[in-house]
Amino acid sequence: TGLLYIVATPIGNLSDISQRAIDTLKSADIIACEDTRTSAVLLKFFNINTPTLAYHEHNADSQTPKLIDKLQSGQSIALISDAGTPLISDPGFRLVRAAHEQGIGVVPIVGACAMIAALSVAGLASDKFSFLGFLPAKSHGRIAALNSWQKCSETLIFYEAPHRIIDCLTDMIAVFGGEREATLCRELTKTFETIKKLPLAQLLEFVKQDSNQQKGEIVLVVAGNTKTHSTTEYDEWLLRIAQELPPK
Ligand code: SAM
Repeated sequence: TGLLYIVATPIGNLSDISQRAIDTLKSADIIACEDTRTSAVLLKFFNINTPTLAYHEHNADSQTPKLIDKLQSGQSIALISDAGTPLISDPGFRLVRAAHEQGIGVVPIVGACAMIAALSVAGLASDKFSFLGFLPAKSHGRIAALNSWQKCSETLIFYEAPHRIIDCLTDMIAVFGGEREATLCRELTKTFETIKKLPLAQLLEFVKQDSNQQKGEIVLVVAGNTKTHSTTEYDEWLLRIAQELPPK
């Protein structure tokens, strides 16, 4: 059987592709792309002439068995998405799961990932974090989702569409409070890269005052709830003291 390569591509700056990614894309029998036209630009730039086919959300059910057949017949397949690491808020999960079920080898060709790049520059605790991908588009659903993370002490990472950034920050302030620290990471690795760390209320003002901040690709990194943490510690401390008191 062939191998399934999960190949990371750049999130903006084409120089971020790895030599191993180029070699893998050149030597694979087929490149499965989220969008063949988007990837054609990248493949042309690196002079990669491997045949491509489409693998996305809408054809994953029908394409998965076909790709598994090809792998079983000995062909190797490289999966890429429009940008960054496949499967991270991108298609690929069903194919990788099916490959495991069939005993087909899956190989990561590592590289750019927007949420990891954002976390690495956010200046917020990076020892524990939760990646939450895209929030619901409508405020009602977004507030409900944010509420479920309100007490989480880990750093939270979100992907957000530029036209929703103001509404998103507004809802975050309503749920997390305006003082919670956050870092807006916009257009990472590109010409207008912006990394801005401020309390949520000030971050909203910053975005409102400059319409450029409402464009491009955005990762929002939000500090965890450290108050929950200290409250818990305080409760434990009170309990310990109470246990040491003589009984009435
Ligand atoms: N698979 C990709 C990855 O590894 O990061 C993510 C794909 S997801 C469909 C696209 C979202 O990722 C964008 O809406 C944005 O939130 C984030 N993103 C991608 N590239 C980015 C960049 N250069 N700067 C900031 N955010 C980016």
